[in-house]
Amino acid sequence: MLSALLDFFFPPRCRSCRACVEHRGFCPACARQLIGTRRMTEMGAMAEHLTGVWVLAHYRAGVRDLLRALKYRRKMTALDDLRTILAAGEEVLEELPPSLLAVPVPLAPQRQKERGFNQTEAIFAPWFAAHGIPFEPILIRTRETMPLYEMTRTERRRELRGAFALVRGADVQGKDLLLVDDIMTTGATLTECARVLRVGGARHVYAIALAGEHR
Ligand SMILES: [Zn+2]
Repeated sequence: MLSALLDFFFPPRCRSCRACVEHRGFCPACARQLIGTRRMTEMGAMAEHLTGVWVLAHYRAGVRDLLRALKYRRKMTALDDLRTILAAGEEVLEELPPSLLAVPVPLAPQRQKERGFNQTEAIFAPWFAAHGIPFEPILIRTRETMPLYEMTRTERRRELRGAFALVRGADVQGKDLLLVDDIMTTGATLTECARVLRVGGARHVYAIALAGEHR
């Protein structure tokens, strides 16, 4: 009732071009440009530990603005808009093994403390719950890492090595896992997380990111 009233007085607008839309999220034209599942084919170094990697949207325009608003200004209303992207992930779940444990990429402890939440968990948790897929933060960051974007691949790998660990008591032996992150840039973070899970005995590790720069 309240949301119907709000929609009447403040009709929802596309989060990218501001056109009036019927439902929250993006207008059909922006959705076509920004959203759509892509399985990474050029896996490079990721292929060593990851069986498959999917990205659901382009990290630009309204998608980038919403993620930034959520992370840096704690604009929690951005969550509903960002979750509209997850519809593109339905086809990914169909390709994955039925018994799957989803694992968010952890934030550095200091950042999690400042922000008060892990945006990846906040975005994806209701979606995994709706699909009956457990979503457990079994990875932790053991130390801060430097920003990776200006580093070479070798420097990134060195910087990330040993920065993640399984939480005490987590058992991934023989399991199929799905790593989950908000943004994929180089894939170095996902690769290092996958390495830790594979060392822990995971059978297959897949990854899904809400948005990516290399699409
Ligand atoms: Zn639009």
